[in-house]
Amino acid sequence: MTGNKKAIVTGGTRGIGRAIVKELAAKSCCGVLLSDVAFIYNSCDECAEEIIQEISDSGTKIYAFKADVSDYEQTEETVKAAIEKLGGVDILINNAGITKDNLLLRMQEKDFDDVISANLKSVFNYTKAVLKTMIRQRYGRIVNIASVVALVGNAGQSNYVASKAGVIGFTKAMARELASRNITVNAVAPGFIQTDMTEKLSDEQRENLVKTIPLGRMGCPEDIAKVVGFLCSNYADYITGQVITVDGGMTM
Ligand code: NAP
Repeated sequence: MTGNKKAIVTGGTRGIGRAIVKELAAKSCCGVLLSDVAFIYNSCDECAEEIIQEISDSGTKIYAFKADVSDYEQTEETVKAAIEKLGGVDILINNAGITKDNLLLRMQEKDFDDVISANLKSVFNYTKAVLKTMIRQRYGRIVNIASVVALVGNAGQSNYVASKAGVIGFTKAMARELASRNITVNAVAPGFIQTDMTEKLSDEQRENLVKTIPLGRMGCPEDIAKVVGFLCSNYADYITGQVITVDGGMTM
C-alpha cells in the first residue's frame, strides 16, 4: 500500500490516545507507517486544538471530531464524516475509556452502565462503522485498548474489569471473523500508565503499585503508543487475535 495510511483514533486528546495520535501522525512508526489521522474526543476542545497545532507541520493531515463514542447514531455520522475527510480508513484504534470505581456494594447501576457503554459498546460502535470500508478494500488494522486488570481482576473495578474483559473477547471474535479479509484485530493491555486516569491515585497507592512492577516505574503513554504503532505496521502483518500486555512485567 502506498501513500499515507488513514487512521481513526478514539479518545485522542489526552493520555494514551494522544500519544497514539502522535505516534501514527507525527512519527513514522517502525519506519514504515505514516498516517493521516482523525481523532475523536468528548469534552476537551482546547486539548483537541493543542494536538492539531502540535502535529500540523508533520506533513500528515489531522482532523478532530467531537462525539460521544458510546452513542451508536453519533458514531455512524462521525465515522462517515471522518472517512470522507481522510478519503478512507485503514486503521482503527479503539482507545477511549473511563473509570467509575467503587466496591460492588456501593456501585450504582448508572456507574456500571456508563463504563460498559464508554469502554465496550464504543468498540462495537466504531468497529461496525469502519467494517464495510475495510472489507471492501481487503485491508484493515484494528487495535483495541484493554487493560491488565481484565486478565487478573481488580477489587473496586468490577464495571471496568468486565468492560475490558469484554473488549478482549470482542477482539478475538472479530479477529476470527475478519481474518479472511486481511483485517487484523489485536488488543493491547496496558498496566499502570501515567495519565489523568491514574492521577486520582494517592501517593501511597502509587508507591505501593510501583513496588509490584519489576521494571520499577509506571508506564508512560508512549510505551503503549509504540506497541500500537507496531501492530499497525507491516511488521505485524501475521499477528491477529492477540492481547499484548505492556505493564513493565507486573503480570507474568
Ligand atoms: P484519559 O487520560 O482519561 O483519556 C481518555 C480519553 O478518552 C480522552 O481523550 C477523552 O476525551 C476520551 N473519552 C472518554 N470518554 C469518551 C466518550 N464517551 N466519547 C469520546 N471520547 C471519550 O485515559 P487514558 O489513561 O489515556 O486511557 C486510555 C485508554 O487506556 C482507556 O481505554 C483506558 O481504559 C486504557 N487504560 C489505561 C490505563 C492507565 O493506567 N492509564 C491502564 C489500562 C488501560 P475528553 O478529554 O474529550 O473527555
